[in-house]
Amino acid sequence: MEEQDEAKTMAEFKKRENRQMLLMVIGLIAAVPLTIFVKSGTILRASIVMGLIVAYVIFSFWNYSCPACGVTVWNRPKFCHKCGIRLRKDHHKKISR
Ligand SMILES: [Zn+2]
Repeated sequence: MEEQDEAKTMAEFKKRENRQMLLMVIGLIAAVPLTIFVKSGTILRASIVMGLIVAYVIFSFWNYSCPACGVTVWNRPKFCHKCGIRLRKDHHKKISR
C-alpha cells in the first residue's frame, strides 16, 4: 500500500513540475511582445514585469508543493523535506532483488 501511495505522490509531483515548466514557457513567450510593444523604462512596463514575477512566485508556492503534506518545495528535491515522502524517481537506484 505504501508503495502505491509513493507512486501516486510521484505521479502528482511530476504533473506539478510539468505545470511549472509550462508556466515558465508561457511567461517567456509573454515577455517577448512585452519587450517589443511596451516602452522600456515606463511605469507600465515596470508594473507588468513586477506583476508577472509576483504572480509566478504565488503560483509556485501554490503549485510546487509536496502532494502528501502540502509544504512548498524548491530545488527539485528527491524527497520532501517535511514529511520525507519520495517525490522523484531515483535514476541511479540499483535493483538488488
Ligand atoms: Zn511532504
